[in-house]
Amino acid sequence: MRVKKQKRHRKIVRFYTACFGFRQPYKVICDGTFVYHLIANQITPADNALATTLAASVKLFTTKCVIDELKGLGESHFEAVQAAYKLTIARCEHEKKKNADACIMDVLGEKNLEHFFVATQDVDLRKKLQEVPGVPLIFGLRNALFLEQPSTFQRQFVKASEEGRSRITESEYKMLKKRAKGILETEEIRDSSNEGEDEDVGDQNLELQTVKKGDNARKHMGVKDKPQFKRKRAKGPNPLSCKKKKSHENPSMVSGKESKDGDNSVRSRNRTRKSLGLKLAKKSIKSIDVIEGDREEYGCIKQANFCEGGYMRHRIDALDKDNFLCKYSLIEGDVVGNKIESVVYAAKFEATSDGGCLDKVATEFHVKGGDE
Ligand SMILES: [Zn+2]
Repeated sequence: MRVKKQKRHRKIVRFYTACFGFRQPYKVICDGTFVYHLIANQITPADNALATTLAASVKLFTTKCVIDELKGLGESHFEAVQAAYKLTIARCEHEKKKNADACIMDVLGEKNLEHFFVATQDVDLRKKLQEVPGVPLIFGLRNALFLEQPSTFQRQFVKASEEGRSRITESEYKMLKKRAKGILETEEIRDSSNEGEDEDVGDQNLELQTVKKGDNARKHMGVKDKPQFKRKRAKGPNPLSCKKKKSHENPSMVSGKESKDGDNSVRSRNRTRKSLGLKLAKKSIKSIDVIEGDREEYGCIKQANFCEGGYMRHRIDALDKDNFLCKYSLIEGDVVGNKIESVVYAAKFEATSDGGCLDKVATEFHVKGGDE
């Protein structure tokens, strides 16, 4: 039976800590009736008894008005007055003396922001305090102390405030909108090739995401009605593909160099080259060594070493610096595989009208065993 009561009390305390932010040591404000009850039933020391009830450290309070009222009750309450004097006095702000219950109500205020537990034997006061959110109540029954269950009103108050918190408020919505707009704007800046109309579409996206209602308001804002997915359409060159082309251009520049063309037997095999090129692009080059000859001369053999291990060797077959032509062969390396004997490239670099560079490569595969 005792264990059950403790469990119940712990649960109640947890309700107030979780929902109203009560923290240890718990402050317990005692009125005259409660102090008298403690003395009469020899529940002493009182702070120990209350600490056991709440299973936590406590600090006991009373008010000046409570003590004054106890004093007025005469000789029979003398001990209670003495005991009450030992408690901490919670300052009541009112100027004139009040009844004990009115004084306690006053100290708690509308929401009990100071997080007081109230210990009282006054049933009427307890009923009144059940209508104040976040006031736990303690009372004595003979020599046992009890913590009252949270009232229906208090539970409903918690439920309502939880619901309120879970909904988006007007100011929160505005803040969210502002922030989302900021993100969109930075995106626009990054994507410099955007047309002006995109801002409208972005704005609309935001509206759709944050609130489903408010269509009318949007129309008044002069926003065009466009499908949400329009933003996803590709604009300009894909930055990823541009970047890749650049990095792909470099290894061929390093390994190949410009050379003279003049070979008519070259067969264009761009499709095959692409797959091999992809293979090469995946491997990043760690270093390039000159194996034979001069770096920029016909007949020079260079070896490219990859970061993950492995290598490939190119030989310069022809070089024409003036016309930016280079013919070179892949003659050795682990990318070559079993079937290919060598790969001959003829590369030509041409200036394009937009100030860029066009890299034309014709590729010839020599397969082992003579046939292609
Ligand atoms: Zn007072």
